[in-house]
Amino acid sequence: MKDFFLRLAFLIVMLVVVPCVINLFFNESYSDNIYQLKIYESKTGKIIKLDIEDYISGVVAAEMPATFGEEALKSQAVAARTYALRKINKDAPEHKGADLCTDFAHCQAYYDEKQMREKWGSKSDFYINKINDSVLSTKGEYLSYNNEIASTVFHACSNGITENSQDVWGGSFPYLICVDSPGDMQNPNYITHLSVPKADFVNKLNEFIGEQKIESETLIINEPKLTEGGNVKSINVSGIEFEGTQLRKVFGLKSSAFTLKYDDETLIFDVYGSGHGVGMSQYGAQAMAIDGADYKTILSHYYPGTNLKKMYK
Ligand SMILES: [Zn+2]
Repeated sequence: MKDFFLRLAFLIVMLVVVPCVINLFFNESYSDNIYQLKIYESKTGKIIKLDIEDYISGVVAAEMPATFGEEALKSQAVAARTYALRKINKDAPEHKGADLCTDFAHCQAYYDEKQMREKWGSKSDFYINKINDSVLSTKGEYLSYNNEIASTVFHACSNGITENSQDVWGGSFPYLICVDSPGDMQNPNYITHLSVPKADFVNKLNEFIGEQKIESETLIINEPKLTEGGNVKSINVSGIEFEGTQLRKVFGLKSSAFTLKYDDETLIFDVYGSGHGVGMSQYGAQAMAIDGADYKTILSHYYPGTNLKKMYK
């Protein structure tokens, strides 16, 4: 009888305990190898190790207002996760040997918990939970196109139509094309204005080209050529052709979707939307969420033809 119990105990160990232990180790090493990221903190110069989902929560917190709807936050989580997966590169000089960095101009902006609490104060727990929920309910989900990780660029607010990536950066992607984004016009900061004295306008452009080619007295600004999405593709100023993106940079405009009026003294830019205009518009996503769209609908609207996939089984 004693022998029977010994055999039974051995059997239980072999059939139940051993597989559990193996599974535990397997999962941990699997997670360490694939889903743990090293992030170079551009401001502190430190490298931190984060689970990819924790990193994505920090990116969503930094990149989209936490007041936005759940489905908008989920679409941001998927876009941010996809963008991160595509951008992982230990050899990038900006990463100092890490996978990604926290420089928003190179990878994506990122808030740690301390930064979130500084930003949200007494509402921190509410917003942190809200963002974590949006990330975990889309855990491991990313967008692909033709079995490649998609380039899910995003921006704050378009001019009502998103841009074709080719018109902005020269690179063509079948899913980064012009789509309607009417909800952007509901953004209270949809239109911004900038008034520039004529002399400053001329000086800044001459500085940009490195020569005194434009004169205040003979300033002529022609009608701009527009992109398919309605941004300024190029504009001729006193015989010199500038790209819309160049004027955006020189005058710090919120976007390249602008009109320009001028008289003898002043030039006035009316600027529509904010950001480069390519891919998902965050305000457009929020407007779709308010109208009842789920995150899958939002993502397939702004990245048409992409497929939602899962990193985890
Ligand atoms: Zn980077």
